[in-house]
Order: sequence, then C-alpha cells, then structure tokens
Amino acid sequence: MKRTSAPTNAFAPPRRGGLRLLITGGAGFLGSHLAEHFLGQGHQVLVLDNFITGSFNNIKALMPHPDFAFIKQDVTDYIEVPGRLDAVFHFASPASPVDYAQYPIQTLKAGALGTHKTLGLAKDKKAIYVLASTSEVYGDPLVSPQPESYWGNVNPIGPRGVYDEAKRFAEAMAMAYQRTHKVRVRIARIFNTYGPRMRKNDGRAVPNFITQALAGKPITVYGRGRQTRSLCFVSDLVRGLDLLLHSDLATPVNIGNPDEHSIVAIARLIKKLTGSRSRIAFKPLPVDDPKVRRPDITLAVRKLRWKPAIPLEEGLKRTIDYFRG
Ligand code: UDP
Repeated sequence: MKRTSAPTNAFAPPRRGGLRLLITGGAGFLGSHLAEHFLGQGHQVLVLDNFITGSFNNIKALMPHPDFAFIKQDVTDYIEVPGRLDAVFHFASPASPVDYAQYPIQTLKAGALGTHKTLGLAKDKKAIYVLASTSEVYGDPLVSPQPESYWGNVNPIGPRGVYDEAKRFAEAMAMAYQRTHKVRVRIARIFNTYGPRMRKNDGRAVPNFITQALAGKPITVYGRGRQTRSLCFVSDLVRGLDLLLHSDLATPVNIGNPDEHSIVAIARLIKKLTGSRSRIAFKPLPVDDPKVRRPDITLAVRKLRWKPAIPLEEGLKRTIDYFRG
C-alpha cells in the first residue's frame, strides 16, 4: 500500500448528488477537457498525472475549484483514493506518434500496468471503468471505414506497436475484468481528435501545421499527403464520452468524426484559415503510417445517440485562435 506522492490538494469528501470521478492523464489534452466538463456538471473530479506529456497549465484554472483535486503520480504505481468512487477514466498515456516513439516503455507500461492498476481500483470501488482506447487498434486498416467488428492490421514490433499493442492489451484486460469481476467497462476507440490545449510541439499533424503556418515556416506534410484522417473536435468527443459513461454499452465503440480528408488537404485548409504564406514541404512518410482512417460510427449513433456536430473549419478556427493566444 504505497503512496508515491501526496495529493497536491485534498479530494473533498464524498457528498450526496453528483459523481466522484478519477481521471488518469487528467492534465493531458483530452483528460483536462473531461475534467473541466465533469466539474461543470457538478461532479467531483480527481486528476492523476505524472506530467510526462501532460501539463500543469492544463489544470491550473481548475485547482481552486472545491470539487477538484490533483495527485502527481505515475499510473503504474499503487493508486489510493479515499472514499467512494463512481467512475474511473483511464486516459493516461502518451498519444502522439512522436511522444510514444520518445517514451516507448512508459507507453507500454501506461497501457498495460496502468490499465491493470486502474481496473483493480474500479473493481474495489465498484466504479464504472471508461478506457481511452484508440483507432490505432485497427493499425493500418485494410477495411475502411473501420467498424468495431474489424480486428485490425497492426505491426506489433514496429515503432507504433508500443502504443497499438498496449491499447489492444488494455482492451483485452478491461474485457477480462468485465467478464471475471463484473466491472462495468466502457471502451471508447478514440479517433483523431484536435482542439485547444494540444501541445504546440506534440508532433501531430494539426498542431504542427498550425504552428508552422502561423510562424510562416514550411508546413511539413509526410509522404505525398494522400493518407487520410478524420478529425473530431474535442467538445464533440467529450460529449460522446459522457454519453458512453451513462450508457450500458459493454463492448468497444468508435468515437470520432467520419468526415475524412487527405492530410495534404488538411494542410491546405489550415494554410487558408491562418492566412499563411507558408509553403508545403513534403517529408518522408513515417514507418507504418496508416494510409486511411475513418470511423464507422453506426454503433455510437444507435446506442449513444451521438454524432459529432462541429464542422472541420469551425473546429480548426477555434484551435487556431488558441494557438495564436
Ligand atoms: N503528418 C504530417 N506532417 C506532420 C505531422 C503528421 O504529414 O507534421 C501526418 C502523419 O504522417 C499522419 C497524419 O499526418 O499520416 C496524422 O498524423 P498524427 O501524428 O496527427 O496522428 P496519427 O493519425 O498518425 O496517429
């Protein structure tokens, strides 16, 4: 029963009404949006983060909130939460290909050991468990769009394997806890998501292109830019995750925006929206970079009554405003 680090501020005792939630990786891009969302709904939120890729800046504004608490800790260490816990969101992991290439072992540990730890906690507390899985479980897909029934095409030993296989393991582990221990598990296969609070240097296409366009530097498109992605604005994603928490959907569900574009088209759109005079510079395509990616969201529409609402241009404008600031 080892606590590696004391909470930076205390988690207020449970109270009636409202949920008590733990969000691992809660100082990251998605985690901090989730934390803000649930606080806004009157719930109590405990965030756990070790700041490998998360940042204190993302939660700074939440710190004074009486229903918010933060603990600086690695998710692979024993997690102690006093009192009731209604839901555990396991969102801790490097998530950009550049980040997980830089932290391969931490990525594997967050997805494997971190999933085990947080599932154990959810089991103890009889909490609902929401796993941040990923479209990367489909690898470089041979089926498009990707339905949840597709098993994927993943290279286990390539540079992306550390993330893809950790998340595939995490799904298997979550399903095992559901079957064996009756933990109420919800698995979100999250597709490319963008919005404010992405790190400028996180290496992903949207922050790279915006930062480069605003600085008048070349916009780096990998390969010929014909590979596709389907980008979901963060507020749509958070709404989908909230609906998932309150659903009884016990199998993985895709949460993403099916609006598919080539990467070079996204680069050109960002150039236009920023009014940039940057040129597009073509660079080598990273190993195992998926050629297409587009979620089939039939299940989310049917079971969660969810579909994204923010069009790409609007979401990009909001993200560009954030990056300008
Ligand atoms: N990409 C690019 N230029 C960049 C960063 C990324 O062309 O500066 C490409 C990358 O090769 C991939 C796509 O954009 O095909 C999306 O990459 P990202 O890192 O955002 O996430 P992924 O979907 O690959 O996980």
